[in-house]
Amino acid sequence: MASYFEDTIAAIATPRGAGAIAILRLSGVDAYTIAGKLLRRADGAALSLDDSHRARRARLLDETEGRPLDEVLVLPMLGPGTATGEDCVEIHCHGGAFLLDLALRATLAAGARAARPGEFTQRAFLNGRLDLCQAEAVADLAEAGSQAGLHAAWQQLEGGLSQRIHRLRDQLLDTRALVEAHLDFPEEDLPAETLRELETAQAGVVQEMEALAATFARGRLAREGVRLVLAGRPNVGKSSLMNALLGRERALVSEVPGTTRDYLEEPLAIGDLQALLSDTAGIRVTRNAVEKAGVARSREQIEAADILLVVFDGSEPLSAMDREILEDTAGRPRLLLRNKSDLDEAWSASSLGATSRLLPVSAKAASGLAPLCQAVLEMLPAEGETVVEKVVVTRARHHEALTSAGAAAARAGELLSAGGGLDLVACELQAATAELDALVGLSTPEDVLDRIFERFCIGK
Ligand code: GDP
Repeated sequence: MASYFEDTIAAIATPRGAGAIAILRLSGVDAYTIAGKLLRRADGAALSLDDSHRARRARLLDETEGRPLDEVLVLPMLGPGTATGEDCVEIHCHGGAFLLDLALRATLAAGARAARPGEFTQRAFLNGRLDLCQAEAVADLAEAGSQAGLHAAWQQLEGGLSQRIHRLRDQLLDTRALVEAHLDFPEEDLPAETLRELETAQAGVVQEMEALAATFARGRLAREGVRLVLAGRPNVGKSSLMNALLGRERALVSEVPGTTRDYLEEPLAIGDLQALLSDTAGIRVTRNAVEKAGVARSREQIEAADILLVVFDGSEPLSAMDREILEDTAGRPRLLLRNKSDLDEAWSASSLGATSRLLPVSAKAASGLAPLCQAVLEMLPAEGETVVEKVVVTRARHHEALTSAGAAAARAGELLSAGGGLDLVACELQAATAELDALVGLSTPEDVLDRIFERFCIGK
């Protein structure tokens, strides 16, 4: 096949460390030649790599010494019907960091180049095997920590989002073609009926873009998880609640106020979403430098929270600091937790004077935790039944592109209705299309591509 790249890349595609099996991956024009140099049959004869996509046993040799390194399984895959679109060879070795280092070095000595992070997927994208949204979904699939995250990534990998974007793009191009055809005859107005049709079509496109962009509220949570942050003065039981919610000992619990010096973030399943639960250092005026740093960080945590869990000690009278925290967090999405409900109540719910929900919990007795999780789910944006095909937007990059495209398309619609110049309408339509092009990777700036792929791991 005519490959876009001149060199052949190699990487260990499995995690480092000892394991039953590890996969060494080669992709590029010389993948077969390089594999041929390093692989032999058990009797020492050359190994045939014909018969694509069929595994065979072989010995992997050390290129420089010619000594056998490992007994392996080889999977040759002839391009373009491969993950990267190029000739690929997978060598399934026995797992072991030292052995794999030697195996990788052998492929490099035989003419391969060590792959950069995400380079296999990048080649898949550049060779047209995946569009940009799908390439991103490859990373999301591996990183998904919840059913919702997995489902969204799978949808995207299957092309759900890309198809929607391509349809919208086609509609914009159709309108633009009509508008531009009329640009050549400036003396003629658009027929009233055509104009009406265009307006209706344009309104539909704008509405669909807005609906799709709106799924980001939920999609972001599916991909990134819901950030829950425990806040409250020292000793109200934040660390204990964190442990109770996680069902295991994690945060440092201490009877000395202010001992949680930094925040700890732990994944927790809530419904089919992943939540990231973190505990903050108690907000308090302090002279201790370590604790001060912790307090600054906990402020940042509080700012970044999707939902704050503001904890109070139900067994002690409310203090000035409790009231301060109540006031501080008033503008944020929050749930108020009255902890230590296993002890006698020292204040009544009305004395808080707050409008947010107050839930009784006990970290010690592990009670009230299910209603707490339910309350969290109720506070999150709903899945939205209006969304056709259940496609969700999970990345800020996609959301921004859709929002900008929607705004440009809306301006085009307004100009049409107001009888604005058709050249201006065409301009706005072009701007909207350009945003969608960048979204799916039809024309994405090099630096944006680099930024996307450098976050992948090596071998992916
Ligand atoms: P933090 O400073 O807010 O993180 O509070 P800790 O989790 O360190 O708890 C402070 C103290 O309160 C510890 O002695 C805990 O054992 C105790 N505590 C926490 N939750 C409960 C609870 O639900 N009931 C009772 N009785 N004690 C609790």
